[in-house]
Amino acid sequence: MSKSPTIGVLAIQGDVREHITSLQACGVTAVPVKRPDQLESIDGLVIPGGESTTMSILAVKNNLFDPLRSLQRNGLPMYGSCAGLIMLANRIADGRSDQQTIGGLDIVARRNAFGRQVDSFEIDLPIPAVGEEDFHAVFIRAPLVESIGDHVEVLASIPTSVTHDDTERIVAVRQGNLLATSFHPEITTDLRIHQLFIDMVRSA
Ligand code: GLN
Repeated sequence: MSKSPTIGVLAIQGDVREHITSLQACGVTAVPVKRPDQLESIDGLVIPGGESTTMSILAVKNNLFDPLRSLQRNGLPMYGSCAGLIMLANRIADGRSDQQTIGGLDIVARRNAFGRQVDSFEIDLPIPAVGEEDFHAVFIRAPLVESIGDHVEVLASIPTSVTHDDTERIVAVRQGNLLATSFHPEITTDLRIHQLFIDMVRSA
């Protein structure tokens, strides 16, 4: 892709503005997307953090699931943060019984996986795919990637120095044109995850 890409941010619920600001800071055009017809002119889609059950209800109401699923199958790059990760997961643990996802990412996403007492926390996370320096990762009632299929690449797991046990807690993954993080880079000033996604969009 030679021209600068246009990236949509699914704008039915969640921290849309923060993603738009991060994408613009990376130098690309970012547009909110609410209706199926607005999906036609984008080169990639970000699904923000928020509340995945509400997002599911509103996506049904706005007739967005069919077009989103077919764009995903046709290879449109998508990045989901937190609730957005849940929206990209093939399967959800602890979801609402009627909760739907776009799917495509061969993972089981467990909602609210870190328990009430640690609803929110911040850690310095090694993510080799974005560089040597740790990424300051903010988790807010975050999901965990509970299991992954063969074609899913793990980009980050919570370090054992934080967890003090040897269970792997996966919090960032990539599969083909799909990228997902349990945490919220859009509420920090570190643009490396958005930049990684933009690189995926450019090479798609
Ligand atoms: N707990 C939320 C959900 O299940 C996700 C939280 C977030 O996006 N910060 O959708």
